[in-house]
Amino acid sequence: MSIFTNRMQREAETIKVMVGIYCRHHHELNVSDCHECSKIQNYALDRLHYCPYQEGKTSCNNCPIHCYKPSMKDEVKKVMRFSGPRMALRHPILTIFHFIDDRRKEPVSISSSTKPKRYSGENPEKMKNA
Ligand code: SF4
Repeated sequence: MSIFTNRMQREAETIKVMVGIYCRHHHELNVSDCHECSKIQNYALDRLHYCPYQEGKTSCNNCPIHCYKPSMKDEVKKVMRFSGPRMALRHPILTIFHFIDDRRKEPVSISSSTKPKRYSGENPEKMKNA
């Protein structure tokens, strides 16, 4: 699977790229050497991994659940706001897909076999602010 065919992989890659741009500019580090940015990146990747919508997800911005806890939501927004405009030149393909993916305004249902086990059968409302 690749970023061209797998939305989850594409979103994970986008998160890594955005946190990387932010960290290099603000801390002059690679994310793996930065405690603050590693924490943000790992949190976002963890949320993505356990997203109940998986391939049917919206952008997190349009999500009816908003599973991020408020403090981390603010941190991730700060990173996205900074890195979003800077991503276009360095990663044009990811940027184009990001805009295309962002056009989905509501989650669509997907096969239960693609959902992560941890949340199968649970009400997504329970995930709020996890
Ligand atoms: S539940 Fe919503 S906010 Fe959480 S990862 Fe999935 S789409 Fe994003």
